[in-house]
Amino acid sequence: MHYRSSLALLLLGLVGCTSNEPPAPVNMSTPPFTPAVTTVTKTDAEWRAQLTPEQYHVLREAGTERPNGKAYEEFKHQGSGSYVCGGCGAELFSSAHKFDSHCGWPSFYDPANATNVRTREDRAFGVTRTEVLCARCGGHLGHVFKGEGFNTPTDQRYCINGVSLKFVPKEAGKNAP
Ligand code: FE
Repeated sequence: MHYRSSLALLLLGLVGCTSNEPPAPVNMSTPPFTPAVTTVTKTDAEWRAQLTPEQYHVLREAGTERPNGKAYEEFKHQGSGSYVCGGCGAELFSSAHKFDSHCGWPSFYDPANATNVRTREDRAFGVTRTEVLCARCGGHLGHVFKGEGFNTPTDQRYCINGVSLKFVPKEAGKNAP
């Protein structure tokens, strides 16, 4: 019962925020996977030791945090800075590309460093979506949707799990925006 309820909640939340119609699948070509300069590979035991159980579930098991959770509440109040991978520290997103999609998960309309983000088709649960991953460590970040009508420069919504990210405030980041 709980599983079915959770599944319905997650699919509703992750598939579309603005209407009951699933958004068109992102029709972007995914270039051949080219790892970033440093490819992080760790054993399962090492990841479990490094990450919190929730981070492990999201990053290493492609899980989804519940909407409007603690990480999202923190995200809404963070100022200028960079969002790096919670697993390996690769720069992924920038506060400059945040927008409020009212979905309950951190949303960006573009990656800050496209070379550190890769996508692949995800057909889990009978729904075709585009999964977003860290190119450096392979960690699952979330999904990207296109053409939902958001008033952003790209009309793309990178719907990202807050626990998969680490915020680096502008003051502390050397290359933060
Ligand atoms: Fe990573």
